[in-house]
Amino acid sequence: KGDPRLQAISDSIRVVPDFPKKGIMFQDITTLLLDHKAFKHTVDIFVDRYRDMGISVVAGVEARGFMFGPPIALAIGAKFIPLRKPGKLPGQVISESYELEYGTDCLEMHVGAVQPGERALVIDDLVATGGTLSAAIRLLERVGAEVVECACVIGLREVKGQRRLNGKPLYILVEPR
Ligand code: AMP
Repeated sequence: KGDPRLQAISDSIRVVPDFPKKGIMFQDITTLLLDHKAFKHTVDIFVDRYRDMGISVVAGVEARGFMFGPPIALAIGAKFIPLRKPGKLPGQVISESYELEYGTDCLEMHVGAVQPGERALVIDDLVATGGTLSAAIRLLERVGAEVVECACVIGLREVKGQRRLNGKPLYILVEPR
């Protein structure tokens, strides 16, 4: 590492204690989006990494994966697909649920958006337990896609050390502050 862009990215993320509830250190990437240099550095680093990996589909996780996925998809010549919370996608969907700290949540994907054998990249802003990304991987694998890697701007140290998720590589830019 030692890439000065990573420090600029880290510095642009606002940490909000006790949001949305007590004890959570919320990593707010809206301040990264306000800083056009930090936003561009973020997209550039991902684009440099993924442009020659034969990726045909970038899958973004609702909602903050929708902010980083599309510029990356455009730059690497891939399509973008949204992985959404239940009841939002109008077409035929498949669903995968995952564990939260309290209860479960679910992600849905349009059937027909991805063909068997396509090479996919999954994008979200942050990985904590990895539950959300695991559900995303399962959705893509159910339709026969190959998940090449999952990429997040922010990853907890433990997850970063782990580097894999459901057997898939995980690429993280910075740790939470
Ligand atoms: P997980 O499934 O545990 O890996 O949680 C990752 C998802 O929850 C991502 O979609 C994040 O946007 C969100 N998330 C979890 N923890 C935080 C946090 N401390 N700050 C901001 N977003 C978070």
